[in-house]
Amino acid sequence: MTKPYKLFIPGPVSVDDDVLDAMSQPVMRHYGPEWMDVYNETTSLLKQVFQTQNDIFLVPGPGTAGLDMAMGSLLANGQKVIVCRNGFFGERLATVAEANGLQVVHVAAPAGLPIAPDDLRKALREHPDAPVVAAIHHETTTTVMNPVSELALAVREAGRVFVVDAVSSLGGVDVPVDAWGIDVCVTAANKCLECPPGLAIVSVSPRAWEMVNSHESTHHGWYLNLKTWRWYADNWGDWHPSPVTMPTNNIVALRTSLRKILAVGLPEHFAKHARACRAVRAGLRNMGFQLFLPDEFASPLVTAVLPRPEFTAHDLQTWLAQERGLYIGGGIGELSGKILRIGHIGQATSRDYVMDLLFAIEEYLRLKGIDVPVGASLIEL
Ligand SMILES: *Cc1c(COP(=O)(O)O)cnc(C)c1O
Repeated sequence: MTKPYKLFIPGPVSVDDDVLDAMSQPVMRHYGPEWMDVYNETTSLLKQVFQTQNDIFLVPGPGTAGLDMAMGSLLANGQKVIVCRNGFFGERLATVAEANGLQVVHVAAPAGLPIAPDDLRKALREHPDAPVVAAIHHETTTTVMNPVSELALAVREAGRVFVVDAVSSLGGVDVPVDAWGIDVCVTAANKCLECPPGLAIVSVSPRAWEMVNSHESTHHGWYLNLKTWRWYADNWGDWHPSPVTMPTNNIVALRTSLRKILAVGLPEHFAKHARACRAVRAGLRNMGFQLFLPDEFASPLVTAVLPRPEFTAHDLQTWLAQERGLYIGGGIGELSGKILRIGHIGQATSRDYVMDLLFAIEEYLRLKGIDVPVGASLIEL
């Protein structure tokens, strides 16, 4: 299928045709033996990608549904949660916690810098009554990778439960859930798992279950409540494993994508993102662009780049979209107009996509009167 445009936004991503074909198979029942085969295979493939023995739930909805579920299920009204935030998605996580009646303790870093594990340690000492810590792995709005393995260590030392928003990282970089000790890990189908939007995926550790079961009721609703999902897994798990009607086509598509990822192998799947990222970062630098973050804590999944005096971020974004059908992302919140974001996820990791984008940007620079020889993005100046 030829697409009239290419997505380089930080999700959702352009996905492969065989995954789209899987979406268009006849609708199935979301229960019964045929469904159990699909469901069990999908959750078992997911356990390999999450690198976990923990329970996995497929929850119809956006990634945020999984985060709402974690916040609402682990703690009761009025309890404290420590939220690490250094950008829009960290703030969103705090808002989700507050909307669930929780008291939020903030551990902040400026936008563009990672969370410092020592700042978390200090908060853990000052708030021994906060049973849960939540953090974003890849803060997609600034492209900072937070040091989740180190944060996990601090959480573990303090004996708390750790929730990680790995929506834009899981599948794209190594996130060994059990080795790092992530109790609740949340991701979505439409980023590094290379599927259309529609599913949140949540893993839950035995320690997290203890906390969920330690209070009678959270009064945080029924649908996004882990207790509800546990009940169906335990009692109807052999024929109808979820409490609601499942988006079966999305799950069949996810199975197709997971099979492909695991057939290639996780290391190679991660490497393709790193390769595309290196090519784009080098290409932008070769054309004289300044990158928003030093390589040190920049994510290999999305690159943030500054506009130039000759044009605004919006101008370049609009030209690429209208003239070349290439969609890149802009800045959000305080970074609006200040940066552009280029995703290296899904098909945007391919040579075809990367070359198209670099050559289109070269062309745009020439239109703006900047002296960039043809092919300059591929040459180290
Ligand atoms: C994309 C994203 C989300 C969730 O987005 P939804 O719109 O709820 O699917 C959450 N956190 C991060 C870090 C993301 O990149």
